[in-house]
Amino acid sequence: MRSSQLILLAILLIAYGELSAQRSHREVLLLMGSRFELTAIAEDTAQAKAAVAAGIAEIRRIEALISSWQPTSETSAVNRAAGVQPVKVSLELYLLISRAMKISRLSNGAFDISFAAIDRIWTFDGRTYTMPDPDSVLASVANIGYQHILLDRADTTVYLARPGMKIGFGAIGKGYAANRARNVMREMGIEAGLVNAGGDLISWGAPPGQPAWTINIADPKDAARSLGRLQTNEMAVVTSGDYERYCLIDGERYAHIVDPRTGMPVKGVQSVTIVCPDAELADALATTVFVMGVTDGIAFIDRLRGVECLVVDDKGEVFHSKQLQLQRGSAERP
Ligand code: ADP
Ligand code: MG
Repeated sequence: MRSSQLILLAILLIAYGELSAQRSHREVLLLMGSRFELTAIAEDTAQAKAAVAAGIAEIRRIEALISSWQPTSETSAVNRAAGVQPVKVSLELYLLISRAMKISRLSNGAFDISFAAIDRIWTFDGRTYTMPDPDSVLASVANIGYQHILLDRADTTVYLARPGMKIGFGAIGKGYAANRARNVMREMGIEAGLVNAGGDLISWGAPPGQPAWTINIADPKDAARSLGRLQTNEMAVVTSGDYERYCLIDGERYAHIVDPRTGMPVKGVQSVTIVCPDAELADALATTVFVMGVTDGIAFIDRLRGVECLVVDDKGEVFHSKQLQLQRGSAERP
């Protein structure tokens, strides 16, 4: 595992409290290109193990459905038919795209799964790149626009109306997978657990003998330090940061998140944490706030009920939404 990945993992430092080995099962593995961690608390270990295995199977199923890398996915079929014809997809993918487009409308296009038209130009893998030529950026931006994703509910078809369009779920897929894994585990009778999908965490219930899970939000500059603690039961805590995947251009650091309106990677924000009950929504909103920047992003979150956020800007200054209740305590990790 790359050291940059390890840093990401540390963004959510979870205090497990007195987890009893007999009653819990935890697995850490690479899924969707990220480190996932699934924990189930159950009456017996066999039940916890079976639930974690089912959660993992569900995440693999979702990855095969939505991945824009795997040529056999429904997403790849939609992308191949851009500008050619509508593609019949499962109701599941259809609804995921519909929800993503809702967030595009809500955010005035800051969040847009069709940003992916530009992913041939920018590669955010930690290597150094030179600035792509402005003409090719402009040409790709012309192919970004959720308004040109045409949906037909009756047939569950998706049509990318312009050749050169492409969709990708990098900013929402892990959150969706976390929600689904939680649901599957819960349906198997698991009353408390955690799914951490590469920094997108959802919790339910509480660890044995405790009223709630304790989740530390790590300082993006120094993962050993906590910016604050949250006590959660039914809650998602999702962090999007610029330190895992980024590119350097003339020594300047650009995030792997793109402003769909300019085609340029965003600067100014180091990390965004969203707290709300739904991991998919939190995932999408974390990316949205990144694009909007500190002031507009927090104002946007303050208009949404039941959603809070914490933003660290590029100078390390910390900002948060009005209602966020963080326990400060010691800045050091307990
Ligand atoms: P992280 O991977 O750190 O959790 P995000 O959830 O914000 O971060 O996802 C970033 C990914 O989202 C990018 O790698 C890319 O695939 C995709 N993406 C980038 N910009 C946008 C955007 N403006 N709208 C939607 N998706 C985006
Ligand atoms: Mg996201």
